[in-house]
Parts: sequence; C-alpha cells; structure tokens
Amino acid sequence: MTAIAALAPTGHQLEALLAPLGDAHYGPERCAALADLIAEIHALKRARNAVVLAHNYQRPEIFTVADFVGDSLELARQATRVDADTIVFCGVHFMAETAKILSPDKTVLIPDLDAGCSLAASITADQLREWKQEHPGAVVVSYVNTTAEVKAESDYCCTSGNAKAVIEAIPADREILFLPDMFLGIWLERATGRKLTIWLGECHVHAGIRPDDIERWQRDAPDAELLVHPECGCASQCMAFGNERTHILSTEGMINFAKASPKSRFLVATETGILHRLNKEAPGKRFEAVSERAICKYMKMITLEKLRDSLRDWKFEVEVEPEMAARARGAIERMVAIS
Ligand code: SF4
Repeated sequence: MTAIAALAPTGHQLEALLAPLGDAHYGPERCAALADLIAEIHALKRARNAVVLAHNYQRPEIFTVADFVGDSLELARQATRVDADTIVFCGVHFMAETAKILSPDKTVLIPDLDAGCSLAASITADQLREWKQEHPGAVVVSYVNTTAEVKAESDYCCTSGNAKAVIEAIPADREILFLPDMFLGIWLERATGRKLTIWLGECHVHAGIRPDDIERWQRDAPDAELLVHPECGCASQCMAFGNERTHILSTEGMINFAKASPKSRFLVATETGILHRLNKEAPGKRFEAVSERAICKYMKMITLEKLRDSLRDWKFEVEVEPEMAARARGAIERMVAIS
C-alpha cells in the first residue's frame, strides 16, 4: 500500500505525471481542470476530517487525492487504522461495505452508488444458503468481492493476496466451498494441491484476458516478464503451461515483484489501472497491458467531480445493517489476520 503526500499538483505537473500512460485524454486543458478539482478536494478533506482510500484500478487522477492506494486486502486493513471521522472509498461498493463493517463508527462514503462489481453480483446470499445446505459441514471461503450479506454467510473471506494462505489454514479433512471466482478457485487448487468445490462466477474484465492474449505476447515479447492476476481467464492455463517468465500475482504482489526484479520489461494481465502505479513505483521500467480491453467500467465510474461532490454534499453514505455486519466482520477479520 502507498501513502500519498497531500500535495495538489499544477496542471503541467499532472500532465507530466500522467504522460507515461500515453492517454490523449490527459491533455493540457483537461489536466488544468483536474488540478483545480484536486485543490478543491484537498481543502474539503481537511474541512471534513476525511481520508480517501483508493483501489489500484481507479482512474490515475484519483491517486493524487488518495491517502492510501492499494488492493482490497490492504485497503481493508487501512480502514481499521485510519484516524479520521470519514472514509471516502474510491473503489466499488463491496469495498466500501467492507470498510463500514470494519469501522462501524466512521462515516463511509462512496462517490457513485452504481459502482458495483460483476463478480460480486454472481452470487446472492440466498444462493449461498442453498449451496451450504447441499454441502453440510463444509467451510465457506468467500473472495472479498462479495456483498456484505454473502460475507455474513461465510466462514472466511480472502483476497488474491492471501487466498492461498487462507486455504492452507483450513484443516485438510474439511470440504471447502470457494466462491465466487472460478478462475481464482482453479488456480488455488493447483497452488495448494487441495480439491475445492468452486462456484462458477467470474469477473468480466479478467475473464476477458484469454490464453490467446498471453500466447501472442509470449511470442512477440520474449524479453518480458509476464505478471498475471489469478482472476484472469488465462491464469490457470498460464500456471499449467507457463514458463519461468510467468508469475501469478495479486496486484500488490505485481508491484513488489516489479520493484525488486532486475528485469526491465513487464507484460501485465489485469485491469489496466495498475499501470499507473507500476510506472510510478518502478520508474525506468517498461509496463504494457496484455489486453487494452481490460478496463473495469465500475471502477472507472468514480471521477474527481463525483469525489468532490461526495465530500461537499455528503453522499453517498454506505450503511450495513448491524447484525449482518457483526456476522460479516468475523469472516473479514479472519481474512485480515492471515497474510
Ligand atoms: S475488475 Fe472485475 S472483480 Fe474487480 S471490481 Fe471490476 S468487475 Fe469487480
């Protein structure tokens, strides 16, 4: 996780910061307008005693006002530590819910209530209750991309950063129901050697990164290291047929790997928002998206304009019913404790 200095850049500085992305959207006019918004947001944060937590897949300009940037696990941990009255969550709805569950006394805001997640939407609490009835005695491990109601029905939560450790912490003689991401589940079976009962959900963004994309890059860029998120539709194949240049990693793991590696070129198979952070934290190295189409429309719903409105007009407050939150908290706390 990265703690960001609360300094408002000028339009020119912002343009220079975003230039490595090669996105024509960030021209001089747009960057000047964004710089004004950034200054306004910093002032509102001070006035409201608020912190901004931002997921790695957010728009890059969001990182300039974020107090912390990280993956789901790091942000969940941070939600328990921040000394502020209000958390504004720049991510998707289940993440803001997780922050509220872990910090019930804080106000948690999300700038756009429609920022959902296709993976979290792939299983409801009713479906999980039915599944549990079909597998009495099984341990339920939910990937963190689930609603609060589903977490409340789960024994453990996990993220891609600690899913392997969570599975390995469960006694070998217990059946495990793993949900909702099937690609992560298949990867976990291979990584742990453990048979899992897997829910057939998927994230439309990661599922769209196909083995063909990987094969093309392996052919065209033989000097590059390949960093693959385990949610990807290609991850299990990469693991089976990959070579020593292929690394299956969480987003936080990708950043740590790229920083420490002596190599200079990396192909990245996950949501393209991670490229900005990789460029920033491992300067001088070359990062390319395996698929330019890997963009999460839900993550990109959060804009600086909506973040400013959220802080100024106090919207949209995220609430989780206390009894449900108490049940979900146990599963999340077990996740946060295992790394
Ligand atoms: S990238 Fe996929 S898993 Fe992540 S928030 Fe978007 S839809 Fe959900």
